[in-house]
Amino acid sequence: MNVFQIADGKNNSLWGKFGEIEYKLFVSDTDKKSKKDTKDKNKEKEENEKYILCGHCKNKITLPVYKKKIHESHEHTFLNPSGQVFNIGCFEKADGCISVGESIREWTWFYGYSWQVSLCGQCLKHLGWYYSTKLGQSFFGLILDTLI
Ligand SMILES: [Zn+2]
Repeated sequence: MNVFQIADGKNNSLWGKFGEIEYKLFVSDTDKKSKKDTKDKNKEKEENEKYILCGHCKNKITLPVYKKKIHESHEHTFLNPSGQVFNIGCFEKADGCISVGESIREWTWFYGYSWQVSLCGQCLKHLGWYYSTKLGQSFFGLILDTLI
């Protein structure tokens, strides 16, 4: 049995020749590593695609599966008292958010719900509001422009 090394592309793999038949004896570490890296990168990419991220710091905020319809629609457009337009998406859960301040009933955009300010749990950017009722119903209304 002859053992020889061939360079396939950038990687050196060890081959064995037995009679006329060639066997690849092992895959060099660089070969293995590049395969693994590609796999990890793909996996990471998939993970990132699954999550909806904070547009500022890329913190994982929520997932598309948590999109929720409130008053018949996932998306809502509102004007705040100072004339700013907000495009809001409703989500059942947003684990990447922290909600701060007291629950306020006045000026709510969703009838029957009180609101709290929701910030990105990592960079503290204002991402939207957490809405809840006394009966324990709740959702996040997140400003779609702040998410990616
Ligand atoms: Zn953030």
